[in-house]
Amino acid sequence: MKKNIAVIKGDGIGPEIMAETVKVLNVVAEKFCHIFNYTYVLMGGIAIDETGEPLPKETVEKCLASDSVLLGAVGGPKWDKGEGSKRPEAGLLGIRSALNLFANIRPAKLLKPLASACPLKTEITDKGLDLVIVRELIGGAYFGEKRTFTDEKGNKTASDLMIYSDYEIERICRVAFDMAKKRRKKVTSIDKANVLDSSRLWREISHIVASEYPDVEFSHMLVDNAAMQLVRDPAQFDVIVTENLFGDILSDEASMITGSLGMIPSASLGMGSLGLYEPIHGSAPDIAGQNKANPIASILSAAMMLRYSFDMDREAKDVENAVDLVLEHGFRTADIMSEGKKLVSCSEMGDKIAEII
Ligand code: NAD
Repeated sequence: MKKNIAVIKGDGIGPEIMAETVKVLNVVAEKFCHIFNYTYVLMGGIAIDETGEPLPKETVEKCLASDSVLLGAVGGPKWDKGEGSKRPEAGLLGIRSALNLFANIRPAKLLKPLASACPLKTEITDKGLDLVIVRELIGGAYFGEKRTFTDEKGNKTASDLMIYSDYEIERICRVAFDMAKKRRKKVTSIDKANVLDSSRLWREISHIVASEYPDVEFSHMLVDNAAMQLVRDPAQFDVIVTENLFGDILSDEASMITGSLGMIPSASLGMGSLGLYEPIHGSAPDIAGQNKANPIASILSAAMMLRYSFDMDREAKDVENAVDLVLEHGFRTADIMSEGKKLVSCSEMGDKIAEII
């Protein structure tokens, strides 16, 4: 199969982890007789430096013309002082919206070789930790009307409108239920229906969708309780579905209990097969350019791309198995290093995974 992949290296460690990801994809292409063409495009801080915009029009056009998009990470202290629309993060929100990627998929799974990195007690993790958070990505408070103004009493005031329509809730719930059907058949919808109207609509619509999936167990949970349950008993969750802001926070919490930020991939999907695949971590400016970063989250994001955008399940499993094996063999980048293991650099980790494939 021939596939065109738009690649956004981004800032900080983005270029380093992306080089290893492309290295791994190239061995997959060789092994399975595929052709992957890469088109490198600008976004984030580097795009601001070179074009004045965090998300140049050309980037959006090239991404839309590709079969899929890979993203390293964007941002860094150099661009922190810019106004909202000129910050690297505006590129992130903009590309998700331009590609109409409304569903963010984040798996959180405790890998056996990294169990010691989990901050939870073993009596909790012994029950297992393997869940997926399906987060609505282009609605809610991040995209609702924003205002900063001085009220009639002279107080500086700001507001962000948390707004959802029925169709937005319906389509994200369908993603969650379809995913649950292929897993342990359980969906937990997280909201704040005791105080928010948008959450009450979320509950109403999620119930309607749930009625079409009688083989999937369905329940609701308030977001504050969910934040507690994730550390008290994460084994109870299979697929979590939630709105943008709650999903942002809960998915970071879920990632942390699996060990390191450097291990967790994500996928952002829309209606078609085009998706955006990126690690959940940021650009890690503190270690950028030192060949120290962990490329596994980015490599596992590429595995998700193979599975969800290209329907290459065998190839995706091959990448995931290679990551498991490298960890079982004791190789570790600095962020996941522990006593008795072998410390490797970012590029050595990429080499090891590519060798196994
Ligand atoms: P961060 O995720 O970049 O880093 C947090 C900590 O984790 C740092 O100590 C870093 O060294 C470490 N870390 C992160 N990824 C790692 C990896 N692959 N290997 C080893 N260690 C890793 O979060 P931050 O420091 O809060 O943000 C830095 C910049 O990244 C900011 O400008 C922020 O806006 C941006 N950011 C971008 C994205 C994105 O592109 N999707 C996401 C989050 C933050």
